[in-house]
Amino acid sequence: MIISGTVIADSSTIIHDGAVVVDGDEIVAVGERTDVVDTYPAHDERRLDLVAPGLVGGHIHSVQSLGRGLAEDCELLDWLFDYVLPMEATLNAEEMEVAAKLGYLELIETGTTTAIDHLSVAHADRAFEAAGEMGVRGLLGKVLMDRRSPEGLLEGTDEGLAETERLIRRYHGSFDDRIRYAVTPRFAVSCTEACLRRSRELADAYDGVRIHTHASENEGEIETVQSDTGMRNIHWLDEVGLTGEDVVLAHCVWTDESERELLAETGTHVTHCPSSNMKLASGIAPVVDYLDRGINVALGNDGPPSNNTLDPFTEMKQASTLQKVDNLDPTVTPARTIFEMATVNGATAAGFDRLGALRPGWRADIIGISTDTTRATPLYHPLSHLVFAARGEDVEFTMVDGEVLMDDGEVTVADADGIRQRASEIADSLDLEAARESAQEVKP
Ligand SMILES: [Zn+2]
Repeated sequence: MIISGTVIADSSTIIHDGAVVVDGDEIVAVGERTDVVDTYPAHDERRLDLVAPGLVGGHIHSVQSLGRGLAEDCELLDWLFDYVLPMEATLNAEEMEVAAKLGYLELIETGTTTAIDHLSVAHADRAFEAAGEMGVRGLLGKVLMDRRSPEGLLEGTDEGLAETERLIRRYHGSFDDRIRYAVTPRFAVSCTEACLRRSRELADAYDGVRIHTHASENEGEIETVQSDTGMRNIHWLDEVGLTGEDVVLAHCVWTDESERELLAETGTHVTHCPSSNMKLASGIAPVVDYLDRGINVALGNDGPPSNNTLDPFTEMKQASTLQKVDNLDPTVTPARTIFEMATVNGATAAGFDRLGALRPGWRADIIGISTDTTRATPLYHPLSHLVFAARGEDVEFTMVDGEVLMDDGEVTVADADGIRQRASEIADSLDLEAARESAQEVKP
């Protein structure tokens, strides 16, 4: 297939009348349209407005999609223990599958082709299967919680790690290696030292398995870790083995100088989630400082209960404008930097090579964005349009590994209406009272 239009091959390469040639799951050529059409005369052509690499969600919770709009106007630990954990504890396997599908549907619709996805404790299989069937690329992990956790989520240390290992064997490298595994302790507050140390051992035992957790999102969280361990959170994570080039830490809002040095020295990846950090009033992550230190910073939506969407375009704009006002400097985090965070940086964090740009030999994860809109008129620069004006609903074409998941705005790999209808039915019948009572008993 030839995909043509204004091709944004990467943050510094824009081909105005360009084309990308896809054979199987790979890109085989990128160039001027006229040259490409001459060289590949037998290929069908799909004309689009803007053609870009698929975006990478560096930290999301697909299975929290049923909590969209459920927990408004509260801080992180209230939000978590009063609403989100009770919801996760309440969902049965079928409901968890619908939640995951609703999440992946939104990713496909809005241009995220790869997700680093923090699932829940139970029914993780359903999300792995849903991601595989719906065609997205992902680094997924079942959540580990072996202390300070409500009934329905609390697991024994052995039990959680055994289930993790079973899932690694079943799903790591599955669906043509689109789906990979990240060992996923929820955060230091809800995991014992043994759980964290054994998470590292488990990741080391399987080639390509990574580690994904939350870190230093909120001041209450780091005070709890300090009181448990006598250490700052990032130092504690380093102590138990949870830093390094295979580790993705979501948030890192509250870090001191020594912790930032540690993140840089160890090559640990950070995912910035500006909408969630603003909505929960967690704080402003020092993204400009991280980038200056050479830390790889990806971009994520976090979950629908704290955002309330998985639209990556909203996230790009928030990421840029929040840093500009925080630094009182309009020159920081330009569109180019933000686009790199949402593409190649995310791919690096997720551990997939040949991903995040449109180049021959790279994976065919491609999106098309319509500019037949008032908000795209006039259009001086495609990158500034993508970061500051475009919205998820402008995405009309989504491809992963050469498979078309959405065309002309119609998702072809799932029954979108059916998923939305079932999600609304589940939300109408959700009863969190019992799970909420149990969560209050362990709330820090
Ligand atoms: Zn999160």
